[in-house]
Amino acid sequence: MKTPFQGRCSALVSKLKESKLDGLLVTSPASWYYLTGFTGESGALIVSRRGTTLVTDGRFTVQAREETSGVRVVLQKGSPFESAGLFLKGTSARRVGFDPVLLTVAQLGSIRKAAGPRLRWIPAPAMVEGLRMRKDAAELVQMRKAAVLAGEVVEEAIGLLRPGIREFEVGAEIDYRIRKKGAAGPAFETIVAFGARSALPHARPTAKRLRKNELVVLDLGVILAHYCSDITRTVFVGRASRRIRTWYRGVLEAQSAAIAAATNGALCGDVDTAARRVLTGYHLDHLFVHSTGHGLGLEVHEGPRVARGQKKRLEPGNVMTIEPGVYAEGIGGIRIEDDVAVHDDRTEILTRVPRDLIEI
Ligand code: ZN
Ligand code: ZN
Repeated sequence: MKTPFQGRCSALVSKLKESKLDGLLVTSPASWYYLTGFTGESGALIVSRRGTTLVTDGRFTVQAREETSGVRVVLQKGSPFESAGLFLKGTSARRVGFDPVLLTVAQLGSIRKAAGPRLRWIPAPAMVEGLRMRKDAAELVQMRKAAVLAGEVVEEAIGLLRPGIREFEVGAEIDYRIRKKGAAGPAFETIVAFGARSALPHARPTAKRLRKNELVVLDLGVILAHYCSDITRTVFVGRASRRIRTWYRGVLEAQSAAIAAATNGALCGDVDTAARRVLTGYHLDHLFVHSTGHGLGLEVHEGPRVARGQKKRLEPGNVMTIEPGVYAEGIGGIRIEDDVAVHDDRTEILTRVPRDLIEI
């Protein structure tokens, strides 16, 4: 019986045939895992009509044989690209694809030289990423667990907030709890931002102490069994002013509108517009300085992009964040982020944390 990994390699080989490619060079570790189960960090993977070959160095060969099945493991000599090139030179492959976004000019030069002049290198962007965008049932099970775990951590972190605590103290607690609950670690550098600093969408935790009447933005994610989650909640310390309440309501309505628009067949650009239109109604669109969301899976940023003008249509199995926000310099920021999965006939919210404004 085929493993899920072998099934994915077969699906990729079908795509290679459509593109008239004999093989594909895969250089992203997340895609190695997706296609083979290999979790090492160095090597080169070649998927071809004649089988799957992983070139890796002596640190990872035993691991590669244990983690994979039906994959030829080749011990690397020189760089992974020289080795992969030499391996391909000895095969009948003539047209081999590579991802021009992921391969550097130097790496392409090295593999091209080693493979010799008979091989043609064809730019073939995002072939594996295209498959990775459609999560299967087993992947969705993992993503639900990762989302629930991130929700538990964000709720616990809200419970720690009190005047006097420092951003980095909350950040460290979050990262500790993520690991203590069994995740491999944070999916990205945890964001804890108090007061005016919350107006920076990617604020790193500092020594700043929390004061009364400040906004708090907590944005965190976990990697659980290889899959990422990503959640943001915004809290107010004290009683929020009418202006802050109105802004919060605007962001919440924008998020709800985007989630409602994120259905099977919808254009990603239209999901982004749904959020932006609500914020325009609140005269807050100029404070929404990033896109509405991003795909999520083995990596915390992957396809599909939920951004202005994106022509991709959502399909069952797509998982992404919906995270509108407003950011006012000198005042603070408000962002609400949840993870959603698109199904045939409905959209599932994976993160399970109340979204109403919390005042503490
Ligand atoms: Zn986030
Ligand atoms: Zn995000």
